[in-house]
Amino acid sequence: MECAVIGAGVSGLTCALRLLEKGHLVTIYSNKFSPNTVSDVAAAIWYPFLSYPIKKTNRWSLETYSELYKISLNSPESGVTIRKGREFLRDKISPPDWTKGIDGFRILEKNELVNDYIFGWEFEAPVIQMNLYMPWINDKLIKMGCRFNEVNLEYFSEIDESVIINCVGLGARELCDDIEVKPIRGQVIYIQQDPGIGRFDQQPETLTYTIPRNDVTVLGGTAQINDWSMEIRDEDTEDILIKCESLWPELDRNNIIGFSVGLRPSRHEVRLEKEYFLDKLIIHNYGHGGSGVTLSWGCADEVMKILESN
Ligand SMILES: Cc1cc2nc3c(=O)[nH]c(=O)nc-3n(C[C@H](O)[C@H](O)[C@H](O)COP(=O)(O)OP(=O)(O)OC[C@H]3O[C@@H](n4cnc5c(N)ncnc54)[C@H](O)[C@@H]3O)c2cc1C
Repeated sequence: MECAVIGAGVSGLTCALRLLEKGHLVTIYSNKFSPNTVSDVAAAIWYPFLSYPIKKTNRWSLETYSELYKISLNSPESGVTIRKGREFLRDKISPPDWTKGIDGFRILEKNELVNDYIFGWEFEAPVIQMNLYMPWINDKLIKMGCRFNEVNLEYFSEIDESVIINCVGLGARELCDDIEVKPIRGQVIYIQQDPGIGRFDQQPETLTYTIPRNDVTVLGGTAQINDWSMEIRDEDTEDILIKCESLWPELDRNNIIGFSVGLRPSRHEVRLEKEYFLDKLIIHNYGHGGSGVTLSWGCADEVMKILESN
Protein backbone atom coordinates (compact mmCIF):
# COMPACT_ATOMS: atom_id res chain seq x y z
CA MET A 1 0.00 0.00 0.00
CA GLU A 2 1.18 3.57 -0.65
CA CYS A 3 1.27 5.39 2.69
CA ALA A 4 1.99 8.98 3.67
CA VAL A 5 3.40 9.83 7.08
CA ILE A 6 3.05 13.49 8.04
CA GLY A 7 5.72 14.65 10.48
CA ALA A 8 9.37 13.68 10.91
CA GLY A 9 9.64 13.70 14.71
CA VAL A 10 10.13 10.48 16.65
CA SER A 11 6.44 9.51 16.17
CA GLY A 12 6.53 9.90 12.39
CA LEU A 13 9.89 8.19 11.91
CA THR A 14 8.92 5.22 14.10
CA CYS A 15 5.61 4.74 12.26
CA ALA A 16 7.38 5.01 8.90
CA LEU A 17 9.82 2.28 9.94
CA ARG A 18 7.05 -0.09 11.01
CA LEU A 19 5.17 0.53 7.71
CA LEU A 20 8.32 -0.21 5.66
CA GLU A 21 8.97 -3.38 7.68
CA LYS A 22 5.50 -4.56 6.59
CA GLY A 23 6.33 -3.89 2.94
CA HIS A 24 4.39 -0.66 2.40
CA LEU A 25 5.67 2.21 0.24
CA VAL A 26 6.22 5.24 2.44
CA THR A 27 6.70 8.96 1.90
CA ILE A 28 7.30 11.26 4.88
CA TYR A 29 5.90 14.76 4.39
CA SER A 30 7.20 17.32 6.86
CA ASN A 31 7.97 21.01 7.17
CA LYS A 32 10.94 20.25 9.47
CA PHE A 33 13.30 17.32 9.70
CA SER A 34 15.90 16.28 12.28
CA PRO A 35 17.73 18.07 13.91
CA ASN A 36 14.98 20.73 13.89
CA THR A 37 12.01 18.89 15.44
CA VAL A 38 10.82 18.90 19.06
CA SER A 39 11.95 15.28 19.25
CA ASP A 40 15.56 16.38 18.75
CA VAL A 41 15.35 18.37 22.01
CA ALA A 42 14.01 15.44 24.10
CA ALA A 43 16.35 14.77 27.02
CA ALA A 44 15.60 11.76 26.67
CA ILE A 45 14.81 9.15 29.22
CA TRP A 46 12.14 6.49 29.01
CA TYR A 47 9.64 7.72 31.60
CA PRO A 48 5.85 8.15 31.28
CA PHE A 49 5.29 11.87 31.96
CA LEU A 50 2.51 14.33 31.08
CA SER A 51 0.72 11.95 28.71
CA TYR A 52 -2.74 10.43 28.93
CA PRO A 53 -4.93 8.32 29.19
CA ILE A 54 -2.84 6.53 31.81
CA LYS A 55 -4.15 3.01 31.06
CA LYS A 56 -3.14 3.24 27.41
CA THR A 57 0.05 5.24 27.93
CA ASN A 58 1.22 2.66 30.50
CA ARG A 59 0.79 -0.10 27.91
CA TRP A 60 2.39 1.85 25.06
CA SER A 61 5.26 2.85 27.37
CA LEU A 62 6.00 -0.71 28.43
CA GLU A 63 5.91 -1.92 24.81
CA THR A 64 8.39 0.84 23.96
CA TYR A 65 10.54 -0.10 26.97
CA SER A 66 10.98 -3.64 25.57
CA GLU A 67 11.78 -2.37 22.08
CA LEU A 68 14.32 0.20 23.33
CA TYR A 69 15.88 -2.44 25.57
CA LYS A 70 16.41 -4.69 22.51
CA ILE A 71 17.81 -1.76 20.52
CA SER A 72 20.29 -0.97 23.30
CA LEU A 73 21.60 -4.55 23.14
CA ASN A 74 21.60 -5.07 19.37
CA SER A 75 22.46 -1.57 18.09
CA PRO A 76 24.63 0.40 20.54
CA GLU A 77 25.32 2.91 17.71
CA SER A 78 21.64 3.99 18.04
CA GLY A 79 22.52 6.01 21.16
CA VAL A 80 20.21 3.95 23.42
CA THR A 81 21.74 2.80 26.70
CA ILE A 82 20.24 1.40 29.90
CA ARG A 83 20.92 3.49 33.00
CA LYS A 84 19.92 3.45 36.65
CA GLY A 85 17.79 6.29 37.93
CA ARG A 86 16.27 7.39 41.23
CA GLU A 87 12.93 9.16 41.56
CA PHE A 88 12.46 11.27 44.71
CA LEU A 89 9.03 12.26 46.06
CA ARG A 90 7.74 14.55 48.79
CA ASP A 91 4.71 12.32 49.44
CA LYS A 92 4.39 8.60 49.94
CA ILE A 93 2.40 7.29 46.97
CA SER A 94 1.66 3.93 45.40
CA PRO A 95 4.20 3.48 42.60
CA PRO A 96 2.52 3.74 39.17
CA ASP A 97 1.46 0.48 37.49
CA TRP A 98 4.22 0.69 34.89
CA THR A 99 6.83 0.15 37.62
CA LYS A 100 5.72 -3.52 37.69
CA GLY A 101 6.91 -4.00 34.12
CA ILE A 102 10.43 -2.56 34.25
CA ASP A 103 13.81 -3.82 35.41
CA GLY A 104 15.65 -3.04 38.62
CA PHE A 105 12.69 -1.45 40.43
CA ARG A 106 12.99 -1.12 44.20
CA ILE A 107 11.81 1.32 46.87
CA LEU A 108 14.63 3.47 48.25
CA GLU A 109 15.85 2.98 51.82
CA LYS A 110 15.43 5.96 54.18
CA ASN A 111 19.20 6.62 54.16
CA GLU A 112 19.15 6.89 50.33
CA LEU A 113 16.71 9.82 50.34
CA VAL A 114 17.97 13.38 49.94
CA ASN A 115 16.90 16.76 51.40
CA ASP A 116 13.22 16.94 52.30
CA TYR A 117 12.20 14.03 50.09
CA ILE A 118 10.43 11.33 52.08
CA PHE A 119 9.95 8.56 49.51
CA GLY A 120 11.42 7.32 46.26
CA TRP A 121 12.38 4.43 44.05
CA GLU A 122 15.23 3.19 41.91
CA PHE A 123 14.70 1.78 38.43
CA GLU A 124 16.49 0.94 35.19
CA ALA A 125 15.39 2.62 31.99
CA PRO A 126 16.58 3.35 28.47
CA VAL A 127 18.29 6.71 28.01
CA ILE A 128 18.13 7.87 24.41
CA GLN A 129 20.71 10.22 22.94
CA MET A 130 18.51 11.88 20.33
CA ASN A 131 21.42 13.34 18.32
CA LEU A 132 22.38 9.72 17.53
CA TYR A 133 18.95 8.08 17.64
CA MET A 134 17.16 10.30 15.10
CA PRO A 135 19.91 9.89 12.43
CA TRP A 136 20.03 6.14 13.23
CA ILE A 137 16.31 5.71 12.43
CA ASN A 138 16.66 8.03 9.45
CA ASP A 139 19.47 5.90 7.97
CA LYS A 140 17.32 2.79 8.34
CA LEU A 141 14.45 4.54 6.54
CA ILE A 142 16.71 5.60 3.65
CA LYS A 143 18.09 2.05 3.29
CA MET A 144 14.51 0.70 3.18
CA GLY A 145 13.51 3.07 0.37
CA CYS A 146 11.56 5.71 2.29
CA ARG A 147 10.90 8.93 0.35
CA PHE A 148 11.01 12.38 1.94
CA ASN A 149 9.12 15.49 0.92
CA GLU A 150 9.81 18.83 2.66
CA VAL A 151 6.49 20.65 2.62
CA ASN A 152 4.21 22.58 4.95
CA LEU A 153 0.76 21.00 4.62
CA GLU A 154 -2.36 23.05 5.15
CA TYR A 155 -4.89 20.37 4.13
CA PHE A 156 -4.95 16.57 4.06
CA SER A 157 -6.28 16.86 0.49
CA GLU A 158 -2.77 17.89 -0.62
CA ILE A 159 -1.72 14.24 -0.12
CA ASP A 160 -2.26 11.70 -2.93
CA GLU A 161 -1.80 8.51 -0.91
CA SER A 162 -4.96 6.79 0.33
CA VAL A 163 -3.47 6.06 3.78
CA ILE A 164 -2.18 8.93 5.92
CA ILE A 165 -0.49 8.55 9.31
CA ASN A 166 -0.74 11.93 11.00
CA CYS A 167 2.18 12.58 13.40
CA VAL A 168 2.32 16.39 13.36
CA GLY A 169 2.58 17.02 17.12
CA LEU A 170 1.77 20.67 17.87
CA GLY A 171 1.09 21.16 14.13
CA ALA A 172 -2.34 19.54 14.72
CA ARG A 173 -3.56 22.92 15.95
CA GLU A 174 -3.56 24.13 12.35
CA LEU A 175 -3.75 20.97 10.26
CA CYS A 176 -6.63 19.43 12.28
CA ASP A 177 -8.03 22.59 13.88
CA ASP A 178 -7.40 20.81 17.17
CA ILE A 179 -7.18 23.48 19.86
CA GLU A 180 -6.83 20.74 22.50
CA VAL A 181 -3.16 20.54 21.52
CA LYS A 182 -1.09 22.95 23.61
CA PRO A 183 2.60 23.55 24.14
CA ILE A 184 4.27 22.69 27.43
CA ARG A 185 7.58 24.54 27.28
CA GLY A 186 10.73 22.72 28.37
CA GLN A 187 14.15 24.29 28.86
CA VAL A 188 17.26 22.15 29.45
CA ILE A 189 20.96 22.65 30.25
CA TYR A 190 23.81 20.47 28.95
CA ILE A 191 26.71 19.85 31.32
CA GLN A 192 29.89 17.83 30.84
CA GLN A 193 29.89 16.07 34.20
CA ASP A 194 28.61 12.58 35.00
CA PRO A 195 26.44 12.08 38.10
CA GLY A 196 26.71 8.29 37.57
CA ILE A 197 23.04 7.76 38.27
CA GLY A 198 20.04 9.75 37.00
CA ARG A 199 18.13 11.70 39.66
CA PHE A 200 14.56 12.84 39.20
CA ASP A 201 11.62 14.62 40.74
CA GLN A 202 9.04 14.20 37.99
CA GLN A 203 6.17 16.09 39.62
CA PRO A 204 5.19 18.80 37.09
CA GLU A 205 5.25 21.57 39.77
CA THR A 206 8.77 20.76 41.02
CA LEU A 207 10.13 19.09 37.88
CA THR A 208 13.85 18.31 38.31
CA TYR A 209 16.02 15.90 36.37
CA THR A 210 19.65 15.02 35.77
CA ILE A 211 19.92 12.53 32.91
CA PRO A 212 23.39 11.11 32.31
CA ARG A 213 23.96 10.36 28.62
CA ASN A 214 27.23 9.19 27.05
CA ASP A 215 27.96 12.67 25.61
CA VAL A 216 26.55 15.08 28.24
CA THR A 217 24.28 15.13 31.27
CA VAL A 218 20.94 16.86 30.61
CA LEU A 219 19.59 19.04 33.42
CA GLY A 220 15.96 20.08 33.60
CA GLY A 221 13.42 21.16 33.73
CA THR A 222 10.46 23.37 33.18
CA ALA A 223 6.87 22.44 32.26
CA GLN A 224 5.24 25.77 31.34
CA ILE A 225 1.77 25.27 29.93
CA ASN A 226 0.72 27.35 26.92
CA ASP A 227 4.10 29.09 26.80
CA TRP A 228 5.29 29.44 23.17
CA SER A 229 8.62 31.13 23.91
CA MET A 230 11.71 29.54 22.33
CA GLU A 231 14.09 31.95 24.11
CA ILE A 232 16.59 30.60 26.67
CA ARG A 233 15.55 32.42 29.86
CA ASP A 234 18.15 33.22 32.52
CA GLU A 235 15.58 32.89 35.31
CA ASP A 236 14.70 29.38 34.13
CA THR A 237 18.39 28.46 33.94
CA GLU A 238 18.90 29.59 37.54
CA ASP A 239 15.76 27.78 38.71
CA ILE A 240 16.84 24.52 37.02
CA LEU A 241 20.34 24.74 38.51
CA ILE A 242 19.08 25.36 42.05
CA LYS A 243 16.69 22.40 41.76
CA CYS A 244 19.35 20.09 40.31
CA GLU A 245 21.94 21.11 42.91
CA SER A 246 19.52 20.00 45.62
CA LEU A 247 19.47 16.48 44.09
CA TRP A 248 23.12 16.51 42.98
CA PRO A 249 25.25 18.74 45.28
CA GLU A 250 28.49 17.93 43.36
CA LEU A 251 27.14 19.65 40.23
CA ASP A 252 29.80 22.16 39.05
CA ARG A 253 28.37 25.10 37.03
CA ASN A 254 31.77 25.55 35.29
CA ASN A 255 31.00 22.39 33.28
CA ILE A 256 27.91 23.81 31.53
CA ILE A 257 28.30 23.65 27.74
CA GLY A 258 24.88 24.57 26.32
CA PHE A 259 21.12 25.09 26.55
CA SER A 260 18.02 24.17 24.60
CA VAL A 261 14.27 24.79 24.53
CA GLY A 262 11.41 22.76 23.08
CA LEU A 263 7.61 22.79 23.13
CA ARG A 264 6.10 19.47 24.18
CA PRO A 265 2.95 18.68 22.14
CA SER A 266 0.51 18.20 25.00
CA ARG A 267 -3.14 17.13 24.83
CA HIS A 268 -5.66 15.90 27.44
CA GLU A 269 -5.03 12.52 25.80
CA VAL A 270 -2.92 11.18 22.96
CA ARG A 271 -5.02 11.19 19.81
CA LEU A 272 -4.53 7.73 18.35
CA GLU A 273 -7.56 6.87 16.25
CA LYS A 274 -8.74 6.52 12.68
CA GLU A 275 -10.86 8.90 10.65
CA TYR A 276 -12.12 8.75 7.08
CA PHE A 277 -11.68 11.82 4.94
CA LEU A 278 -13.03 11.71 1.36
CA ASP A 279 -11.52 8.45 0.00
CA LYS A 280 -8.64 8.43 2.50
CA LEU A 281 -7.96 6.64 5.78
CA ILE A 282 -6.24 8.93 8.27
CA ILE A 283 -4.71 7.46 11.44
CA HIS A 284 -3.93 10.23 13.91
CA ASN A 285 -0.98 9.77 16.27
CA TYR A 286 -0.19 13.02 18.07
CA GLY A 287 -0.37 14.77 21.45
CA HIS A 288 2.29 12.72 23.30
CA GLY A 289 3.21 15.51 25.74
CA GLY A 290 6.36 14.79 27.73
CA SER A 291 6.59 11.15 26.63
CA GLY A 292 6.85 11.06 22.85
CA VAL A 293 10.01 8.95 22.90
CA THR A 294 8.67 6.78 25.75
CA LEU A 295 5.49 6.01 23.77
CA SER A 296 6.97 5.85 20.27
CA TRP A 297 7.13 2.11 19.55
CA GLY A 298 3.92 1.23 21.43
CA CYS A 299 2.01 3.89 19.49
CA ALA A 300 3.54 2.87 16.15
CA ASP A 301 2.42 -0.71 16.78
CA GLU A 302 -1.09 0.49 17.66
CA VAL A 303 -1.17 2.44 14.38
CA MET A 304 -0.22 -0.77 12.54
CA LYS A 305 -3.00 -2.71 14.30
CA ILE A 306 -5.56 -0.09 13.23
CA LEU A 307 -4.28 -0.19 9.65
CA GLU A 308 -4.29 -3.99 9.49
CA SER A 309 -7.79 -4.26 10.97
CA ASN A 310 -9.20 -1.87 8.40
C1 LIG B 1 12.92 19.77 26.97
C2 LIG B 1 12.19 18.51 26.59
C3 LIG B 1 12.57 17.30 27.15
C4 LIG B 1 11.89 16.14 26.81
N1 LIG B 1 12.31 14.97 27.36
C5 LIG B 1 11.66 13.81 27.05
C6 LIG B 1 12.10 12.57 27.62
O1 LIG B 1 13.05 12.51 28.41
N2 LIG B 1 11.42 11.44 27.24
C7 LIG B 1 10.36 11.47 26.38
O2 LIG B 1 9.79 10.41 26.10
N3 LIG B 1 9.94 12.63 25.83
C8 LIG B 1 10.55 13.81 26.16
N4 LIG B 1 10.12 14.99 25.63
C9 LIG B 1 8.87 15.00 24.84
C10 LIG B 1 9.13 14.62 23.41
O3 LIG B 1 10.16 15.42 22.88
C11 LIG B 1 7.85 14.80 22.57
O4 LIG B 1 6.77 14.14 23.17
C12 LIG B 1 8.09 14.19 21.19
O5 LIG B 1 9.19 14.81 20.58
C13 LIG B 1 6.86 14.33 20.28
O6 LIG B 1 7.24 13.74 19.06
P1 LIG B 1 6.34 13.90 17.76
O7 LIG B 1 7.04 13.18 16.68
O8 LIG B 1 4.95 13.51 18.08
O9 LIG B 1 6.33 15.49 17.50
P2 LIG B 1 7.47 16.43 16.88
O10 LIG B 1 8.83 15.98 17.25
O11 LIG B 1 7.06 17.80 17.24
O12 LIG B 1 7.31 16.23 15.33
C14 LIG B 1 6.21 16.78 14.61
C15 LIG B 1 6.59 16.80 13.16
O13 LIG B 1 5.48 17.28 12.37
C16 LIG B 1 5.94 18.25 11.46
N5 LIG B 1 4.81 19.12 11.13
C17 LIG B 1 4.01 19.81 12.00
N6 LIG B 1 3.05 20.47 11.33
C18 LIG B 1 3.23 20.19 10.00
C19 LIG B 1 2.55 20.58 8.81
N7 LIG B 1 1.49 21.38 8.83
N8 LIG B 1 3.01 20.12 7.62
C20 LIG B 1 4.11 19.31 7.58
N9 LIG B 1 4.78 18.92 8.68
C21 LIG B 1 4.34 19.34 9.87
C22 LIG B 1 7.08 18.94 12.21
O14 LIG B 1 7.94 19.62 11.32
C23 LIG B 1 7.76 17.74 12.84
O15 LIG B 1 8.62 17.13 11.92
C24 LIG B 1 10.80 16.16 25.91
C25 LIG B 1 10.45 17.39 25.31
C26 LIG B 1 11.12 18.55 25.65
C27 LIG B 1 10.73 19.82 24.99
